[in-house]
Amino acid sequence: MVGGGPAGITLAKMLGKKKSVAIIRSEDYSMIYCAMPYAVEGLFPVEKTFKKDTLVTDAGADLIRATVSNVDFENKKIQLDDDSNLSYEKLIIATGASPFIPPIKGTGLTGVTGFKTETDMRNIMGYIEEGVKNVIVVGAGAIGVELALSLNKKGLKVHLVDMVGSLLPNMVDSEMAVSIQQELVRSGVNLHLNAKVVELHGKEFIKHTILDNGDKIHFDDIENCNITSKESFSGIVVFATGMKPEISLFQESKLEIDRDGIVVNQKMETNLPDVYAVGDCTQFYNGITKKTYSGKLATNAVPMAKTLGFNLLGQERKYQGFYNGAATKVGKYYIGGTGLSERIAKDHGIETICGYSEVTTKFPIMPGAKRIHLKLIAEKETKRIFGAQIVSEEPVTDKIDLLTLAIQNNFAAEQLTKLSYSAQPYQSFYPAANLIVLAAEDVLKK
Ligand SMILES: Cc1cc2nc3c(=O)[nH]c(=O)nc-3n(C[C@H](O)[C@H](O)[C@H](O)COP(=O)(O)OP(=O)(O)OC[C@H]3O[C@@H](n4cnc5c(N)ncnc54)[C@H](O)[C@@H]3O)c2cc1C
Repeated sequence: MVGGGPAGITLAKMLGKKKSVAIIRSEDYSMIYCAMPYAVEGLFPVEKTFKKDTLVTDAGADLIRATVSNVDFENKKIQLDDDSNLSYEKLIIATGASPFIPPIKGTGLTGVTGFKTETDMRNIMGYIEEGVKNVIVVGAGAIGVELALSLNKKGLKVHLVDMVGSLLPNMVDSEMAVSIQQELVRSGVNLHLNAKVVELHGKEFIKHTILDNGDKIHFDDIENCNITSKESFSGIVVFATGMKPEISLFQESKLEIDRDGIVVNQKMETNLPDVYAVGDCTQFYNGITKKTYSGKLATNAVPMAKTLGFNLLGQERKYQGFYNGAATKVGKYYIGGTGLSERIAKDHGIETICGYSEVTTKFPIMPGAKRIHLKLIAEKETKRIFGAQIVSEEPVTDKIDLLTLAIQNNFAAEQLTKLSYSAQPYQSFYPAANLIVLAAEDVLKK
């Protein structure tokens, strides 16, 4: 197996004691990527984001620390970077994805980085230690927003830029993002929406960044910065503009590859015999539309790996597709989204109607009751639920997961109105109303 991320580790756990399995991993450590923004913030040391190798070895799989430099599919051989060769019976590709940095002028300057690896994380932290005071984070998805807030807490002047007109554009629609945006701006982050970075300007270091709306963000704060070579170095630019599949090894091969990665079927089989692929390196479709869709999340990589694991153990399973349930936190707000947003559904030519509800997270008379706000997106004709978004001052992932299950099982709004729910003063709104039922009833009213 090539790759020791969540997909590779899941397969090691499933197959390690039942088959002869070796994982080849180029990184020193497998990482808890989701925790990286919080390590940058200083909530815990960087080392806490490293997964233990025993996750793989205790499961009975071998771990080989090396980079695969070539795969000979015809002769079932793998070449490693030290020129040694290995043979395989079956090959699983789980090489993940790497940050996409748009092809604009200036991305080769010092201080320009993506945000995926231990090196990216240590570089950013190193720049801060050396006195860098300004950062532009490009991309206001969950990774960009979390990193922007962490850097803001470290005392940097942060600019967050996105070409879409609202925050977290793949997770929530613009009207759900209003309070989150206000919270972000209140915390001190400078937000530039509807703006594309078109050029990073400087000789060795970035002096200013040009946006397509004509704005220029200047890095001119050289006070307290220890890095003083030919030019002042006071700012960095981090691209959180999405991930591209890590498929460079296979470009010249007969492996079928499309825009978003290695093409696999529902059993994670590629077009080549005995070759499988799982996780971020693959291209797959949305579970609702059945059309190719981006889903580069650990919460997709793991179920894909499980599907393959079961099939290799002789139990037939089929992967349903991406639903992209995901969550983040901005200041006091917990935010979650699943399925299609109204904006993305429209882009797919789907007519929608939306239902809204707002209650409190505890009985309103209880201390600490907070607001919780839900939007349901349904297909206009069938009222089938296609998406859900929640903003609250308390965690939302359990509710998001429940709604993902409804979407996965093709529930229509009417079925959600029949939800048999629980209620308790410390844990929900009054028995008289339920967040999900109210929003589903709202869909049916429209
Ligand atoms: C900052 C950040 C935050 C994130 N937050 C979340 C979140 O909150 N929730 C969520 O679900 N997802 C999150 N993700 C996405 C998630 O981390 C990925 O979807 C997930 O890691 C994909 O798993 P994977 O196993 O497919 O690939 P990866 O984890 O990318 O692993 C790829 C593996 O392949 C190895 N490899 C690649 N090429 C070679 C080669 N030639 N030879 C040998 N080994 C090779 C690498 O060393 C690595 O071990 C986040 C990602 C980032 C960067």
